[in-house]
Amino acid sequence: MSKFFSDLAKGLKPYVPGEQPKDKKYIKLNTNENPYPPSPRVIKAIRDAANSDLRLYPDPECDDLRQTVAECYGLDKKQVFVGNGSDEVLAFCFGAFFAGKKILFPDITYSFYPVYANLYGVAYEAVPLNENFEIIKEDYYKKNGGIVIPNPNAPTSRYLDIEKIEDIIKSNKDSVVIVDEAYIDFGGESCISLINKYPNLLVIHTLSKSRSLAGLRIGFAFGSEELMDGLNRVKNSFNSYTIDRIALAGASEALKDSTYFEETRKRIIETRDKTMEALKALNFEIIDSKANFIFISHKAFEAQILFQKLRERGILVRYFNKPRINNFLRVTIGTDIEMETFIKVLNNILVE
Ligand SMILES: *Cc1c(COP(=O)(O)O)cnc(C)c1O
Repeated sequence: MSKFFSDLAKGLKPYVPGEQPKDKKYIKLNTNENPYPPSPRVIKAIRDAANSDLRLYPDPECDDLRQTVAECYGLDKKQVFVGNGSDEVLAFCFGAFFAGKKILFPDITYSFYPVYANLYGVAYEAVPLNENFEIIKEDYYKKNGGIVIPNPNAPTSRYLDIEKIEDIIKSNKDSVVIVDEAYIDFGGESCISLINKYPNLLVIHTLSKSRSLAGLRIGFAFGSEELMDGLNRVKNSFNSYTIDRIALAGASEALKDSTYFEETRKRIIETRDKTMEALKALNFEIIDSKANFIFISHKAFEAQILFQKLRERGILVRYFNKPRINNFLRVTIGTDIEMETFIKVLNNILVE
């Protein structure tokens, strides 16, 4: 460790993102990106923004975008916060609500949560999912300084009914309950409808998955004005201009083009269901998915070996060498053609 590092930097345990390979062209099913390009209206809005006022700072309050988002979800602008990707929103949440406390989140979940906990000095208990990778709501009925629940969960793809989420929120009125809905548009029901009822609920969304804008970096938090104030305190102690003019323009247009959104997400759901059928025929075990990815395992073939063989054949999926999930592959849903190729290549590997 470098002598130049601060004690803070020495103590960090950084997140390891999925591979963005540069050596050759892969079918990329490893980072849950959308296989379809963003709406053409988004591209036009971005071009127009690039031709206008980049000389000037962007609006630090993101007023226009927040207004658009609020209308889209039936909220007030004061209940909306915008961040540079939902990862940034999550980081601000840990700073605003959890620093110095002890929080709960599932043992198998998005691996950025423990990273932020470490960065902000947040203690945590990793609450085990049951043997079917389900979140058991009663496990969250105990003393805590905050809760993070991803719904659907990643990398399991499993969805928890909104009634059960509501029970968790209701039973924890003195803690902030974050529901990370990065994948909610692929078949689940959002908790946004509960925001006016529970001041301790904070819902997080991203444009990276269902709106095909992972490269633009836009995420949202929705919640009571009180919680949004907490996020703004942290943000404005860090960087007042986290969202640039190009991203503001593109994000607003993405939310306005609901036709394109509905069409592409429907296509992904259909491809997912077809892919699951084909994999069942190859004797894969598949967790029931409400996300744009699936979590699969095979009794006769080790996941790590399948991962390597797929990679050699030009297909990237995600493998996690972690307890309980080290015989699973997480596979992002691509286009129909990509998934047909995936099934064909996988079949060849199995019969080799
Ligand atoms: C992808 C993902 C995010 C981060 O999304 P960005 O908006 O691209 O930062 C957050 N939470 C979960 C569970 C995710 O899978």
